[in-house]
Amino acid sequence: MTEVADQFTEERAGEVTRVAHWIDGALVEGTSGRSGPVYNPATGEQSGEVDFATTEEVDAAVQAAKRAFASWRSMSLSRRTELFFRIRELVHDHSDDLARLLTLEHGKVFSDAQGEVARGLEVIEFCCGIPELLKGSYSEQASTGIDVYSIRQPLGVVAGITPFNFPAMVPMWMWAPAIACGNTFVLKPSEKDPSASMLTAELLKEAGLPDGVFNVVHGDKVAVDAVLEHPEIVAVSFVGSTPIARYVYETGTKNGKRVQALGGAKNHMIVLPDADIEMAADAAVSAGYGSAGERCMAVSMLVAVGHAADDLVGAIQQRLPQVKVGDGMKPDSEMGPLVTREHRDKVASYIEKGAAEGAKVVTDGRESAPDNGGFFLGVTLLDEVTPEMDVYKDEIFGPVLGITRVDTYEEAVRLVNENPYGNGVAIFTRDGGVARQFQFEVNAGMVGVNVPIPVPVAYYSFGGWKNSLFGDLHIYGPEGIQFYTQGKVVTSRWPDPATSKVDLGFPQTR
Ligand code: NAD
Repeated sequence: MTEVADQFTEERAGEVTRVAHWIDGALVEGTSGRSGPVYNPATGEQSGEVDFATTEEVDAAVQAAKRAFASWRSMSLSRRTELFFRIRELVHDHSDDLARLLTLEHGKVFSDAQGEVARGLEVIEFCCGIPELLKGSYSEQASTGIDVYSIRQPLGVVAGITPFNFPAMVPMWMWAPAIACGNTFVLKPSEKDPSASMLTAELLKEAGLPDGVFNVVHGDKVAVDAVLEHPEIVAVSFVGSTPIARYVYETGTKNGKRVQALGGAKNHMIVLPDADIEMAADAAVSAGYGSAGERCMAVSMLVAVGHAADDLVGAIQQRLPQVKVGDGMKPDSEMGPLVTREHRDKVASYIEKGAAEGAKVVTDGRESAPDNGGFFLGVTLLDEVTPEMDVYKDEIFGPVLGITRVDTYEEAVRLVNENPYGNGVAIFTRDGGVARQFQFEVNAGMVGVNVPIPVPVAYYSFGGWKNSLFGDLHIYGPEGIQFYTQGKVVTSRWPDPATSKVDLGFPQTR
């Protein structure tokens, strides 16, 4: 067992673990005197205290990354590939250790946490093909005796800032392609569930990654601002809420950095009258309440078209009493608690707000939440939600599913296209022609046809439109490789001495 996983054994339950930074291949305790609590959301007890970095501590991580860059980028592709295969094996072998940390600090149920690690692992596997991904192109005889070719090179020291809801997978979306491309990396994970990043750091070291290539600094706005203002960080990937994504994009680009900042979402699932209602209800319950709704790709609004509405509400209502809410480490729990008490209370307040705004509370999650000190909320279904209501407009990020009723397909698409977010969207129908028209005209980055959570596989790229993404490139997959590299084109001549002569004219290609 690794040191980090060891801190969470049964014998040590009840102890408050200090979570330090990881700089230049070693644990470094913070000196700021500032720190934040980490909870086990299933019990409400504090399990950790995480150090918050100062600007100087962020700088120490950047300097370590900078020192490591020259030799890391020079490592041959075959050795880098070999190392990535070792990383893949170690992360795979420690999947359950990682998943356990996720459940204990985030709250999601263990099977869901295993799923998170598995999807992150797919990104690492994609990166094992880095020689193929970095291939350039070559044009022989572009002009007489002249060849032109393109290469992609790493940027230097890059940073990632990640949210609480996928503490292992979202960092993997960033560090795996960044490092595979030859960059060195500084991660600032969510301060709410930081331990998965520490276990990742240990595993990367064990795999043989040179010290300084991967660093972790914890903290809040102070650490984020230090990243955004650091002159030697050349690119920043961010995933989190829309206001902070906008701030990170604006501040990072103002400071000359390349930035991709993925924000929040309000994902709609349209159910047409011809859909298989039982299948749509299963999908809505799974995608609405999985991970307690704390997924940026969670379905939060169902748009029921025409006579689909009554049947759909009935079918969902029937399923809700069976959703087992409880401690994520218990094998029969299907939905765990929310991440913090404050977040649980904020989500619960939307039920009240929805009712006051005129929505019909079909199922009230406050009535079915386990009452043991954990941050639990049961599943809530709100019917007759309309676009002016806050429960429609806001990203609630909890187990609250709303239904809005419209008469036509056109109205449903208009709702999605007028929404300020554009992350994921789904349509449930048996009509292939309508589904095709939908993918053609809908304004969102990830579209599901009878698939409620269309998270792209690792060899495509993930990203939304509108207020769900600030920047030009989506994350992981081919666009991730593009983000973490810069192109160079070489025009080369190895002249035949027999044809060499002085020529002051502008070089011609024909
Ligand atoms: P958040 O925006 O509060 O935090 C994200 C990161 O920003 C954390 O590391 C946090 O420490 C930092 N941060 C928080 N406040 C800051 C501030 N004032 N200044 C600078 N940095 C700050 O997000 P969260 O609550 O951790 O995560 C949930 C949000 O993330 C939801 O909105 C969800 O939709 C979004 N999300 C989006 C995606 C996506 O791919 N689009 C994926 C996962 C989560």
